[in-house]
Amino acid sequence: EGTLSPHRANGEQEIDASLRPRKLDDFVGQQRVREQLRLVLQGALGRGEQPDHILFAGPPGLGKTSLAMILATELGSAIRVTSGPALERPGDLAAMLSNLTAGDVLFIDEIHRMARPAEEMLYLAMEDYRVDVVVGKGPGATSIPLDIAPFTLVGATTRSGSLTGPLRDRFGFTAHMEFYEPAELEEVINRSAGILGVDLRPDGATEIARRCRGTPRIANRLLRRVRDYAEVRSDGVVTVEVARAALEVYDVDELGLDRLDRAVLGSLARSFGGGPVGASTLSVAVGEEQSTIEEVCEPYLVRAGMLARTPRGRVATAAAWQHLGMVAPANAFG
Ligand code: ADP
Repeated sequence: EGTLSPHRANGEQEIDASLRPRKLDDFVGQQRVREQLRLVLQGALGRGEQPDHILFAGPPGLGKTSLAMILATELGSAIRVTSGPALERPGDLAAMLSNLTAGDVLFIDEIHRMARPAEEMLYLAMEDYRVDVVVGKGPGATSIPLDIAPFTLVGATTRSGSLTGPLRDRFGFTAHMEFYEPAELEEVINRSAGILGVDLRPDGATEIARRCRGTPRIANRLLRRVRDYAEVRSDGVVTVEVARAALEVYDVDELGLDRLDRAVLGSLARSFGGGPVGASTLSVAVGEEQSTIEEVCEPYLVRAGMLARTPRGRVATAAAWQHLGMVAPANAFG
């Protein structure tokens, strides 16, 4: 995947970890979510209770994992980290749950991808701090109820719509993460530059902030690529000129759209006259999974004003035609 992919790249875990804010006050932006979380935290701490289960919903790279870790830190609790796809067999989840100690935070990333039997086990755990462990097979199988320690489940999903009703209902609070404003991204980039020791000028930070798809993970990655360029081809100082030249090398366009974003817009315009076209047709046309188109690509294109989702399908907006340097046909816009 390219420089602009919001997904964590291989080997990027350590960088992610070193740049991760540790406290709620260091977490930039998402003001509503921070306020909501602070209330949930302080309410529970004040009563001496375990905080409700919390769900973070939104595109990748916006800080869901960071917030889960911050939550544990602010609670003074340990955090156990796993993911939906890792919990294929209910036994995997049972083992995880029975190893919790009181007050722990259990973080399940991509919780919408958990297998159904594990999900059903989670209902009881969330509600009653209990698991039913099935022993044996066939008619002789028995189920043994097992108490587990009180814990707070923190789930993260890029697709809150595909969570089942019963699972969604068991979260006390769902935080919807938004793409970041340029000023917030500048703050993220300046903070990271400080940690990494990059000599970043304000206009350099502004340029990177404009072109990172509203996503802190991408902002941090572009900062590292621009630093490489500054050190190798220049004197190490990241100015706006250096940032522009570097982003040119990495094929990051003016608006920070990535290859897939551009493919979707291009296909919409060239093959479908600007739409409307259904998401599944579009995904076949660009050769990418529909879930990626819907969860990663479209949210940003909608936010950037390039794409509209209508009941009859996806439509390229006037801004999209302009960005592609094309003229919209007379019957465009549905
Ligand atoms: P997600 O779990 O939503 O994919 P992460 O929490 O892993 O996202 O965040 C990816 C990276 O972006 C982290 O390493 C962190 O450094 C940075 N980041 C995300 N949100 C913020 C923020 N609000 N302030 C500062 N850095 C952030």
